[in-house]
Amino acid sequence: MLSERSKHYLLLRAKYSCEYCKGLLYGLPYEIEHIIPKAASGSDEFNNLAISCSRCNRNKSSHTKWYDPYSGSHVSLFNPRKDDWEKHFKEKRSGKGNIFGLTEKGRATASLLFKATSQYIPPDLKWEKLQQVDDKSLYIHLNHLKFYRLQNKFNLLEDLLVNPIIDWDDHYNTQVEYVKENLFLELCFTRATFVDLARGIRYANTLLKKYQSSPYYLKEIKSALSVLYQQRATEKYIKGDIKGALVDQKESFLHQMKEKQKNSLDYTNYSELEKNMRGFSVKNKFYKIDLPDSVLLDLARSCLEKLTYETDTSLSYLIDIIAIQENLPFGLIEEMEEVTNNFIAINGYGTDSDITKPINLRRRWWYLKALKSERIDLDLLRKDIQYWRRNNLHNGIREINSFFRRINHRQLSEIMAIF
Ligand SMILES: [Zn+2]
Repeated sequence: MLSERSKHYLLLRAKYSCEYCKGLLYGLPYEIEHIIPKAASGSDEFNNLAISCSRCNRNKSSHTKWYDPYSGSHVSLFNPRKDDWEKHFKEKRSGKGNIFGLTEKGRATASLLFKATSQYIPPDLKWEKLQQVDDKSLYIHLNHLKFYRLQNKFNLLEDLLVNPIIDWDDHYNTQVEYVKENLFLELCFTRATFVDLARGIRYANTLLKKYQSSPYYLKEIKSALSVLYQQRATEKYIKGDIKGALVDQKESFLHQMKEKQKNSLDYTNYSELEKNMRGFSVKNKFYKIDLPDSVLLDLARSCLEKLTYETDTSLSYLIDIIAIQENLPFGLIEEMEEVTNNFIAINGYGTDSDITKPINLRRRWWYLKALKSERIDLDLLRKDIQYWRRNNLHNGIREINSFFRRINHRQLSEIMAIF
């Protein structure tokens, strides 16, 4: 058992950071990790101990070696006591999740500990394959870009734009041009921080005109455009520009695929409405639902009764609908809070098995608490926000922040101090 003094020394030595991913651990739980596991006769000496965040420690488990996803070699993991961090890793942007391995050891460690695991990289997307310029590899290249976008690897996308891996060849001019253009679109698309939304929308509209006669490309461009408009609508909505949000929202629907468009809802048919809870909610997110309160409450109640424990997304949307009502149905809000409590408990909010869904539901749970205008447990809210930050759910944090402002909660100033 380590003394408090020893723990303090280890934390200082690690500069209060995880010695693997460099994530800052001020005020956050940390773990003291055996570099060579006890099970493999690793000692309790300071030179076999490292400070680690719970994610890295959990993923490292009892491993001492792992596979480099590029070469396939089985190599020793990074040892914070012996190896030079800068030599093996590179941090693209500050914060967790943006660290890349530079060496076999670095890549193997990143792959195992930081969840940059090869299981997320389909085998077809290896760099070597991209170097042969043919239709297939161009196609793979595009998929690869989308993969980076999903992983929020903005800098890599930028690098690729300036210095594409493909050896451009005259013979493939048309496709190459298309790939380049898509690269740029992907880049705009990727800026979830909304920095490049306007540029992305402008650019996608230009491409839309250019590819009028190519149904396949058009489909891709339209779907990107729809998401870009949707993101800008959300951004405007958060800023309080409801009118602007509506305009973008409408544009977003216009560019959605045809089959989604013709899905018009029959508001008089309850079972139909229940089936389409998602579309119903999203469509009406930015304005008051045009349904009599009594009908809406009946509908919500009947949905609530039919929810199963796998359908927490529907519950989230149901709460969204209730949250924008002018006359709040307090009885229903009470019921929803109780149901939400159960959902969160069963789905493992805040545990190792937690996934995004219970976290999203937890956000709505706060909406319900706020709507009841009961006193908010500030410590609990602070813990939740820290937890979401660790999981990179910044949009969720923004949303809950704007929600408390919108309803002008009576503890608003104390709540804002947490954000
Ligand atoms: Zn870590």
